[in-house]
Amino acid sequence: MALETPAGGRAVAIVGGGFSGTLLALKLAAARPDWRVTVIDPSSRPGRGLAYGACAPSHLLNVPVSRLETGLSPRFDAWLEARGGMAAALAESGGDLQAAFASREAMGAYLAERLEAARRSGAVTVVRGEVVRLLDGARRGVMLRDGRAVEADTVVLATGNLPPRPPLPAGHWLIDDAAFVTDPWSREGLEDLDPDAPVLLLGAGLTMVDIALSLAERGHRGPMLAVSRRGLLPGAHLYGGAWEPFLARLLPAGPLALSKAIRAEVRRAQAQGQPWQRVIDAVRPVIGRIWSGWSPAERGRFLRHLRPRWDVHRHRMAPRIAARIEALLASGALTTRAGRLRDWRRAGGLIEVELHPRGGGPAQTVCAARILNCTGPRSDLQGLEEPLFADLARRGLIAPDALGLGLETQDCAVLTARGEASTWLYAVGPLTRPAWWEITAVPEITAQVDGLVHALAQDAGEVPALAEVFADMGAGI
Ligand SMILES: Cc1cc2nc3c(=O)[nH]c(=O)nc-3n(C[C@H](O)[C@H](O)[C@H](O)COP(=O)(O)OP(=O)(O)OC[C@H]3O[C@@H](n4cnc5c(N)ncnc54)[C@H](O)[C@@H]3O)c2cc1C
Repeated sequence: MALETPAGGRAVAIVGGGFSGTLLALKLAAARPDWRVTVIDPSSRPGRGLAYGACAPSHLLNVPVSRLETGLSPRFDAWLEARGGMAAALAESGGDLQAAFASREAMGAYLAERLEAARRSGAVTVVRGEVVRLLDGARRGVMLRDGRAVEADTVVLATGNLPPRPPLPAGHWLIDDAAFVTDPWSREGLEDLDPDAPVLLLGAGLTMVDIALSLAERGHRGPMLAVSRRGLLPGAHLYGGAWEPFLARLLPAGPLALSKAIRAEVRRAQAQGQPWQRVIDAVRPVIGRIWSGWSPAERGRFLRHLRPRWDVHRHRMAPRIAARIEALLASGALTTRAGRLRDWRRAGGLIEVELHPRGGGPAQTVCAARILNCTGPRSDLQGLEEPLFADLARRGLIAPDALGLGLETQDCAVLTARGEASTWLYAVGPLTRPAWWEITAVPEITAQVDGLVHALAQDAGEVPALAEVFADMGAGI
């Protein structure tokens, strides 16, 4: 059964109504009002996705307002001003709205409102459902789990952040144990948590920060221990300062040379009273170009040795969030350790596990009533059982990359298992990380979506190359 038959013009089906899919739908519908643009998402609250949907009002954006403009109308800053409720953020940023950190929930409401307005005007069709298969025979489009089909000439995968991968081998008993929470965003397994019980958080990045703060806010009093291989916490945003882009003259640089150059530049900046944050901001617009010039071996070296440090400097906490985490650490409510966990066993109502500290030393026994998987969204599509990707992989329509980052694409066109670029299947957002690397946050995804809209709407054929797309982003992200 065809759910919607294109009434003329081209039909575009967008799989996923998170930030990437929503922005693409809105921009494509504005550029080509004669086309039929359909967004398909299982959520009852489309437009938000994981980042701007599964959050509490206290969860803040980790990018200031100035970097969250996506070209939609009204602008995000104007919408925030009209909505109000920014007193705490403005007090922190000295009254400067552009430098303020708004809530993720506000961003979600802003996007959802834009999508709803487009739906009401008939510019975009929103279908609630899960896509499980691609149709690529006489009829092209997508098939939903409930058997409905959406016909389309062009399909764009915007499925974004996959649920976290359990950090244990498949079949391990702990994965099936009620004490183990595979996906902390689902909030499953937290409702009946004893507020005095010890909790073990696997991972120490921004997901852990969100979950630790959520637990503290709901009155959790038991000790929270966050364990990661290196025990590194994300850095904090800092207001002020500036640093010139300095990497262009060093291109191309291998991972080691890049690391040395950044460290030397941070020392130079600090000697001049400039924070390291501005140096990292100056790197961000060119990191995609550097990445695209690296061989698979160099990319692998970067992921193995440098990624943890890059991530904690690049993915930062808003100042207010950093202050709250600092307070939890100072009070002892939250502790972090570097090491590996082994030998999981049940001990009455608790799980006991051996913590082998990084750098050696005697193993310690850690006990927890709940273990929360805070390792962040999964990117590796190899062996993924999710029906759509399993189907695409089985039919050779996609090529998961060897480094476990996502899908192989060329200027957003999905590559088949034989390495051919599709003429009608595209991908945007975090799924395209193998080619783009920094394609997680709003500024980069916005630039990528603009490139794809340009290519599709103009029938230009190809999305502008990565270097061109990121060229205008500027520093200070
Ligand atoms: C917790 C968190 C906080 C973040 N905070 C920030 C921030 O402050 N600032 C910033 O710039 N970036 C932030 N990011 C980065 C964020 O990833 C991007 O900004 C953006 O949300 C990615 O959007 P997306 O639409 O690609 O993915 P998602 O938000 O994951 O949305 C994908 C959507 O696709 C749907 N979907 C999946 N499979 C199917 C299917 N088979 N059929 C139909 N629908 C499907 C999902 O249900 C989901 O709604 C954050 C990310 C996370 C995870």
